[in-house]
Amino acid sequence: MLHPNSNCPKEFQLFGNRIVVKKVKDLKDENGVAVNGLADLDGLCVYIDASLRSTQRWTTFCHEVVHMVNGLLGYDELYANEIYTEQVAQAVYQIIKTAKN
Ligand SMILES: [Zn+2]
Repeated sequence: MLHPNSNCPKEFQLFGNRIVVKKVKDLKDENGVAVNGLADLDGLCVYIDASLRSTQRWTTFCHEVVHMVNGLLGYDELYANEIYTEQVAQAVYQIIKTAKN
């Protein structure tokens, strides 16, 4: 399991897809609003704002991964549900943070 103080992965596999993780300065969504992260289903890419520090970087990574999971599985309502996505992301982050070998 990855240590939360480490950097997020640069890429990972999900359902046979290669997902690339890119850190971007001053990340903005399609409306020009500043965001911490984005999940690009069509581009198979997760974007993370480059200024985020460890905990926020990891929780953002987990959040976008949950979007990716639900989007690739075709669960459109879950994909668009930000509250659900954040709750699952917090659970996944807790697992990463507390995992022991
Ligand atoms: Zn979201």
